[in-house]
Amino acid sequence: MRLNKDQIEKFEVASSLVEALEMICALFPGKVVFSSSLGQEDQVITDAIFKNDLPIKIFTLDTGRLFSESYELLERTTARYKKPIRVYFPEASDVEEFVTTKGVNSFYESVENRKECCNIRKVKPLNRALRGADVWITGVRAEQSNTRKDMPMIEWLEEKQLYKFNPLLHWTYLEVVDYLKEFYVPYNALHDKGFVSIGCAPCTRAIEAGEDPRAGRWWWETSQKECGLHMQEVDQPNNINANPVN
Ligand code: SF4
Repeated sequence: MRLNKDQIEKFEVASSLVEALEMICALFPGKVVFSSSLGQEDQVITDAIFKNDLPIKIFTLDTGRLFSESYELLERTTARYKKPIRVYFPEASDVEEFVTTKGVNSFYESVENRKECCNIRKVKPLNRALRGADVWITGVRAEQSNTRKDMPMIEWLEEKQLYKFNPLLHWTYLEVVDYLKEFYVPYNALHDKGFVSIGCAPCTRAIEAGEDPRAGRWWWETSQKECGLHMQEVDQPNNINANPVN
């Protein structure tokens, strides 16, 4: 089903996150999924879904290179809500081939290697997780980076044949942090050590005050700080099965 302009505009004026999530579930019953990277924004959405028993499947991608703190957060989150988060892994043969031919940390050597690693460990598992869904919910916020500031709240992805829905698009970082505090939502211990956007351990560092929130991701590169999960389709050179979780 494709949404009309009026239906899309209603999401922009939804009175709350829960109302927006309920609206999307009503329009696409049983076909809405949420990809959580276990980041602060995603923990807000997970809290809203689980506390309100919304019929949305939550999944995360285990790249095999995550911080131990991220695994610990996954454990605390499922224990807190007593509900499962589906975990998707990369194809073992893809990882074996890449690591054997290019090297276990070859993502530091070139943008090409880095994109290939992200494609194997993130993009391909994401595409598998999205199969059969009509709506993909993400925790993307406009102020996170220049590449995200012009994203719409809801957009049709032709390549994936589904809607991508960003219900926190207009939230500020402070609103996210306030929500986590107010409702005692579990969050990654690394956030208290200067990490804002947290991905794979070898590709994430803490940032200094005043730095771009995504400056700690792939900091050795000068290209766009995206893994392909949330790139606009037109921006994908050679479309490495493009489109992106965090
Ligand atoms: Fe590989 Fe780094 Fe991308 Fe993780 S963030 S998939 S380790 S290149």
